[in-house]
Amino acid sequence: MNAMTSTPFRCTVTPNTGGRTDAERDAVLADPGFGRHFTDHMFLAEWTPETGWADARVVPYGPLSLDPATAVLHYAQEIFEGLKAYRHADDSVWCFRPEDNAERMQRSAHRLALPELPTDWFTGSIEALVAADAAWVPSGEETSLYLRPFMFASEAFLGVRPSQHVTYSVIASPAGAYFPGGLKPVDIWLSEEYSRAGAGGTGAAKCGGNYASSLLPQQEATRNGCQQVAFLDSVEHRWVEELGGMNLYFVQADGSIVTPELSGSILEGITRSSIITLAADLGHDVVERRVSIDEWRDGVADGTITEVFACGTAAVVTPVGRLKWDGGEAVSADGDAGKVTHEIRSALVDIQYGRAEDRHGWMTRV
Ligand code: PMP
Repeated sequence: MNAMTSTPFRCTVTPNTGGRTDAERDAVLADPGFGRHFTDHMFLAEWTPETGWADARVVPYGPLSLDPATAVLHYAQEIFEGLKAYRHADDSVWCFRPEDNAERMQRSAHRLALPELPTDWFTGSIEALVAADAAWVPSGEETSLYLRPFMFASEAFLGVRPSQHVTYSVIASPAGAYFPGGLKPVDIWLSEEYSRAGAGGTGAAKCGGNYASSLLPQQEATRNGCQQVAFLDSVEHRWVEELGGMNLYFVQADGSIVTPELSGSILEGITRSSIITLAADLGHDVVERRVSIDEWRDGVADGTITEVFACGTAAVVTPVGRLKWDGGEAVSADGDAGKVTHEIRSALVDIQYGRAEDRHGWMTRV
C-alpha cells in the first residue's frame, strides 16, 4: 500500500483560457482575506495499485465530479497539508520547508492507509501550480499564497477497506495579513468535555476527521467569546495538547520556553519545530515536556509563565490573551503580546519574507 512506486515526476499543463482578467485578479489581491478566493489552476494526480502515482497535471480550477459512492464521502479516508508561498522584495517566490510538509503528508498517509506521495511529487506539484499561478502570489506586507495539498479515497465502492483509487490535488488561495493592525491576543476556551484525538487515534495525522471532531467544541468556544479551543489528552484530561489548529508555547519567567512534547495525538507543526530551532538560536532554553492544565492556570496567575503563544502556518505566532473555562479564566496577556512572542514571530517572518539570512536552509525557491 505504502510503497512509493511511481514514475519520476513529470507534469502537463493545460492553461486556463477562461481565467480571470488582470483587473479581476488585482481586485482579489487587494483584499484577499483567507480561504475565500482560489487561483485559476489546480493540480491533480491519481493513484491505483497498478499504476502507482500517475497523470500529474495542472488544469483549470473547477469542480470535481464525484460518484455518490466515492469512499471519502462515507469513511473520511482523507488527509491534507497547508503551506505558503511568499513573494520577496525582488519579486522571487519562495516556500517554507516544503519537504517537511511532504514528509508529514507521508506520515498522515501511512496512518490513514493511503498511498504515500513521494517527496519529489509533492514539491513538484507545488512548483507546477505556483508557476502556473505566479501572478496570484500577493506582494503586500505579510501576505502570501496559501497552498492546500490534499489526498482522498476516490474509489466508488461502499466496502470499508483502503480505497484502490486515490486522488491527490493542490489548490491555492491568496491570503491577506493575519494581523493587519498589529498582533492581537486571542482568547482560548478550554474544552473539558471533548478531546480532539484519542490515544492510538489519528491526532498526529493531518486528516479531515480531526477537524470535524473539533467543530462542536469550537462552537462552544465561540459561544463563550473565545476564538480558539484548547484540548487536553483523552486519557487523564490533564495534559495540555494543542489548539484546534495550532500548537502551544509557554514562556517561563526564567526565560526558558516550554512546548508540550509530542504525545502521539498532537499534530507535529512545522512552525512548532522551526520555533524550537529559532528560539535556541535566540538564546532561549527550549524544553519539550508534558504541561498540565494546572501548570498553565497557576503559572499565569503566579507569574511563573510570563507569555503564552500559539503557532501555525496560517497566523505564524499568535499571542494568547486569556484561557477561559466553565467558571473561571487565567489572563496571560491584556492588550499587547509579550516581548518573547514578538521576538520569535519577527525572527520567523523575517526568514519567510527574505529579510533575514536563511541559516537553516528552510526556504525553497519555486
Ligand atoms: N496543530 C493543528 C491541529 C493544526 O491543524 C496545525 C496547522 N497545520 C498546527 C498544529 C500547526 O502546524 P503547522 O505549523 O505545520 O502549520
